[in-house]
Amino acid sequence: MSVIRILSDRVANQIAAGEVIERPAAVVKELVENSLDAGATRIEVEFRAGGRALIRVEDNGAGMDRDSALLSLERHATSKLVETSDLDRLATFGFRGEALPSIASVSRFEMQTRRAGDPAGTEVLVNGGKLVHARDCGAAPGTRITVAHLFNSVPARRKFLKSDATESAHIIQCVRLYALACPAVAFTLVEDGRVLFQSPACTALPDRVAEVFGRQTAAELLPVGAEESGLKLSGLIGKPGVSRSSRHEMLCFVNRRPVDSRTLNYALLESYATLLVKGRFPVAVLFLDLDPAAVDVNVHPAKREVRFRNEAQVRGFVIRTVLQRLREAGAGAAAPIADFGMRNAESTGPAAMFPTPHPAIPPAVIENRVSNEATFPSKIGNAPGAQPQSARPPAEIRNPQSAIANPAPVPRLLGWRFLGTAHGDYALFESPAGVVVLDRRSALERVWYERLRAAFARGDTASQRLLFPEPVELDAIGSALLLDHLKFLHRHGLEVAEFGRNFFRIEAVPDWLLPEQAAAFLRDVLGLVREGRLDLRKADLAEEEFARLAVSRAVRLADAMGETEAQSLVAQLFACGQPHSSPAGRPTHFELGRGELARRFQK
Ligand code: ADP
Ligand code: MG
Repeated sequence: MSVIRILSDRVANQIAAGEVIERPAAVVKELVENSLDAGATRIEVEFRAGGRALIRVEDNGAGMDRDSALLSLERHATSKLVETSDLDRLATFGFRGEALPSIASVSRFEMQTRRAGDPAGTEVLVNGGKLVHARDCGAAPGTRITVAHLFNSVPARRKFLKSDATESAHIIQCVRLYALACPAVAFTLVEDGRVLFQSPACTALPDRVAEVFGRQTAAELLPVGAEESGLKLSGLIGKPGVSRSSRHEMLCFVNRRPVDSRTLNYALLESYATLLVKGRFPVAVLFLDLDPAAVDVNVHPAKREVRFRNEAQVRGFVIRTVLQRLREAGAGAAAPIADFGMRNAESTGPAAMFPTPHPAIPPAVIENRVSNEATFPSKIGNAPGAQPQSARPPAEIRNPQSAIANPAPVPRLLGWRFLGTAHGDYALFESPAGVVVLDRRSALERVWYERLRAAFARGDTASQRLLFPEPVELDAIGSALLLDHLKFLHRHGLEVAEFGRNFFRIEAVPDWLLPEQAAAFLRDVLGLVREGRLDLRKADLAEEEFARLAVSRAVRLADAMGETEAQSLVAQLFACGQPHSSPAGRPTHFELGRGELARRFQK
């Protein structure tokens, strides 16, 4: 028979901890928020072993007396919220009074705290939710909380933690978000005794951004600012042409709280819609300030999600502001797919920077199949220092004349006669059954995709060593992910070496990648990893994703296409396993039958 019982506080706290404290970074988040709520102007965060072994947050905020210190560990004990109506006026990060008891229930929790006017401080020690002692101690004004052996008593939770490097990256990212949110507060972050990040109080956001993201990213951003009927938007947004392969650099803050807001994300994407190709995302650090009563932060236990009372108003305001700024920055003049650098139909886009004297037609796939040999165009770049990189664009290396000079027999079999190109992108043919329209890009992507997959399968990584390694600065998560994927990248021709925390150098690039695009490509790969689309545990799928991304960089269309190039392209396309669709699933060509033509002309 079941008996209804009230859960002990300890069990209730552990359950609450499951919701609020998913990983070490969540502890850091809650403690840092408390320090900010306590009015701290200096916060130091220290952690060891990805936060599992130890997390310590020390502030110079208001501190607590003995009673408050003990009370703060009781469930729903908060100094911040009295009535639910207070939720509408909330100016603090915390309000549920759940964080401290939750953390203390799943760790060894030690707190030293003192108010400036008090003669002595208080030390409280709790182990796995049980009070061990509370006594006087010497302490500087403020609060220091040390959380050790996190989740030791909760093996189920511990199992879900990722590698130390990943957990550490989440902690670093978390501290950086709050450092961005509160530039006036000095932050120090120490991992395993090493200072990772030390930012004195700054007055200007761009200074913080440069410290948090690195100068490379900071230089890609534009300030924005506007105010309208109670809404205030400020921050930095990516210049036209700056994009990423995932949304991890779209950072939004509402009333200084880092949030995940569909409305804001959507507004950003919408604003950049004409500037970004599908699958690309803007970069932004956006602060929206508005009446707390117009926001609901009480949606998600970790308070990451927010809802606005007037979603449409917020969205409209953000879109107008961002669009206006982009227009001022001359967005209209920029090529829409600026940093993709792959379409050079327009001579204005940055793609025009890459000389492609011949259409970038890969070596005949047909020949590969028949002879079953590795026929990569060139291994010139393999010897260290053999080829100065930018003196010779790889496009030339990989345009073997042979592929163009020896059109394979397939088009003759198909009986397609090349008529010409239309609007640059399309090649037109007369076929025995009618007329064929072929999309040059989709066709070339298919050819490259199968060629790359075959090369990967053979373990063939023709790569070009760079005379001047390309520096790349990443954020903490990107760095951790990159470290986990160095071998995979190396196997695929991209050699990257770490040379300082968050700093890397690209030392060699695969032959299909232009050195000047290597850093952007690397960021894109990491974006896929972050989204779980490139997962080393599923090696085959990972390789597919990688190859798909690679073709987007490898394929560059030349302006003109002659008979020979057209026939060669068709030959190579039909030597592919799946000639009818591009790797992204778009059709490569279609045929208008003679019957259909006759019908149209009512013959
Ligand atoms: P909440 O932040 O939702 O109120 P917490 O469990 O995080 O709940 O904290 C409980 C209470 O402990 C807070 O309301 C605050 O009064 C006090 N407190 C926690 N951390 C600090 C700190 N660093 N400095 C001063 N007071 C603190
Ligand atoms: Mg709190």
